[in-house]
Amino acid sequence: MSTHVNTFATPWQSEMLSAIPAVAHGITRRVEGVGRAHGNVGFSAPRDREDAWAMRQRWCSTLGLAPERLVTLGQVHGRDVHVASAVHAGRGAQPGSIPLGLGDALVTNQIGLVLMTLHADCQPILFVDPGAGRRGPAVGVAHAGWRGPVADVAGATLAFMSTAFGTRTEDVHVCLGPAIGQCCYVVGDDVMSAWREQAGIDAHVAIEPSGDRYRFSLNAANSLLLERAGVRPANVDVSAICTRCHSGHWFSHRGQGPHTGRFGAMVAILGEPAERW
Ligand SMILES: [Zn+2]
Repeated sequence: MSTHVNTFATPWQSEMLSAIPAVAHGITRRVEGVGRAHGNVGFSAPRDREDAWAMRQRWCSTLGLAPERLVTLGQVHGRDVHVASAVHAGRGAQPGSIPLGLGDALVTNQIGLVLMTLHADCQPILFVDPGAGRRGPAVGVAHAGWRGPVADVAGATLAFMSTAFGTRTEDVHVCLGPAIGQCCYVVGDDVMSAWREQAGIDAHVAIEPSGDRYRFSLNAANSLLLERAGVRPANVDVSAICTRCHSGHWFSHRGQGPHTGRFGAMVAILGEPAERW
């Protein structure tokens, strides 16, 4: 086991979201020599679940979060949003535990739940409604590969937060986390026609022709959808890290193959748990 000090040993964080009180977030990395699979947090075969659980505990501890209160989903590249409440703490956290449901976005306004989606090139989207005043914060996280923007999972998450928590979209701060960049994400006509159908006249902002194919920008696509949903552009923090170009530090489906690990995008509301816990 490597004993050298690794400067990438803590999760990646958005400066913008870090400035918001009472909310914690972090995106885990791929770190050579950490655990048996470079810090992987994904459970699905052929991954080592016990090692992944040890890594979930490790990453959570660096953020001061409780790994036994993680909540995860069975991700299906869709737009279904699930709301997590106190009774759901730990759903999908440990090997053998069943995730909260099938879908690609998790939201909550309750303290102490650690929402997590899993990624290897697909974009993590972190949502924070600072909830100024008596309402208190609300948070969310979504998983968005090309099917995410095509289904507008970002818009679906914001709409759900508005309905469930009274979130005003213009108050929401969003981080578009590390994902495969336009430099590396070559797609075909099927993806482009699906995206054009969703985005209409603005579709071009996320498309660059590349021979007889296209380069697709998840950052541009998700930014467009967030703006359409009413998020202020100044409140969107784009990481601009390409997971494939930097596949030494990030799990990348296209960089390392389908059996590579997964990194986790986490968000939680901090504070004293309510009495009923
Ligand atoms: Zn790249």
